[in-house]
Amino acid sequence: MRSVDDLIAEGVSGRRVLLRADLNVPLDKTTRDITDDGRIRASLPTLQALREAGARVVVSAHLGRPKGTPDPQFSLAPVAARLGELLGADVPLAGDVAGEDARAKVAALADGDVLLLENVRFEAAETSKDDAERGELADRFAALADVYVDDAFGAVHRKHASVFDVAQRLPHYAGRLVARELEVLTRLTTDPERPYVVVLGGSKVSDKLAVIEALLPKVDRLLVGGGMCFTFLAAQGHGVGSSLLEADQVETCRRLLAEADGRIVLPVDVVCADRFAADANVSVVPADAIPDDLMGLDIGPLSVDLFTAELVEARTVFWNGPMGVFELAPFAAGTRGLAEAVSAVEGLSVVGGGDSAAAVRALGLDEDAYGHISTGGGASLEYLEGRELPGLAVLAD
Ligand code: ADP
Ligand code: MG
Repeated sequence: MRSVDDLIAEGVSGRRVLLRADLNVPLDKTTRDITDDGRIRASLPTLQALREAGARVVVSAHLGRPKGTPDPQFSLAPVAARLGELLGADVPLAGDVAGEDARAKVAALADGDVLLLENVRFEAAETSKDDAERGELADRFAALADVYVDDAFGAVHRKHASVFDVAQRLPHYAGRLVARELEVLTRLTTDPERPYVVVLGGSKVSDKLAVIEALLPKVDRLLVGGGMCFTFLAAQGHGVGSSLLEADQVETCRRLLAEADGRIVLPVDVVCADRFAADANVSVVPADAIPDDLMGLDIGPLSVDLFTAELVEARTVFWNGPMGVFELAPFAAGTRGLAEAVSAVEGLSVVGGGDSAAAVRALGLDEDAYGHISTGGGASLEYLEGRELPGLAVLAD
């Protein structure tokens, strides 16, 4: 796989580079302000390197899930503005994805300039299952540039026109972020230093069963918190009140617990509430005695201590998924305690998952204390599951 640094070494001055970036940042529902610009900042190293080498950079990206047609709510305009601030340069936004305005604005670029194309998901073809439909859009992308660089790690598990098909049409290179993510994921999957501890949380156990199945044979400990721990607690025969429960996964969790032979560690206490609200009545109860009328919204302090004790010994850690509803202050302590324990790990600590990375930043923790904070939740999980990621396979060709 060639990297953007190989491209720069070849000489990229004056050449048009189509750079697929992951700029899919969360926006405030009413003001449309960017609430966490982590992904924009993560894309700067590749972008700056290309600019400094004199490339004419055409950035393509998606934002949210518009329905395959232009929708001002999902315009990349706030992203263009923030990108411009961070680069200290004007970043114009094309009025379309790969149409007339994009072509005109590309033609007007000077060496070192950056143009952002409008949200690629304004074109239904971007995500189409039909190869010919995606191909037609990819042809239009390819006509905008001389070479293609993919730095959108968060999208490499998608067989989309701007990720997969366009790479087949232009000389292609991996950006620095993609290269770094791959290096870290390789260390997690190839002979990790032991003890190797994986921490999983988040809302749905069904989202993460595949990765649990894949990782269980390889890890020394699997710590489970978040909404998904209740399906495991139910599998042990405990009542979970009105906590998140995926009844159809209880049997699978029971089998996994048996296979794990003690290596799956569950919370021993739970922060419960009488309703899902920041001003609910809150109490901490043993994990095997959750009252019927309460819901568990965070792991308790004894569980944080238990998980921390496992992490102190660890030399390789992968953490995905918050331990509780960290967005609400009364249920943030579990995620904060876990995040602090992960940051103190001596060895490789990796945080994966959009919400987990956002939690690290929202709780004001030091991002530099982690070995790596992955920008791609789904992509890193699919990689760890051992699946082939279309966006990476095409770069390796
Ligand atoms: P990531 O994006 O890091 O992979 P997920 O998307 O799987 O994480 O899950 C994040 C969400 O899980 C958060 O919005 C959080 O509020 C929610 N969550 C965590 N614990 C619970 C719980 N006990 N009950 C309900 N939701 C929870
Ligand atoms: Mg998420």
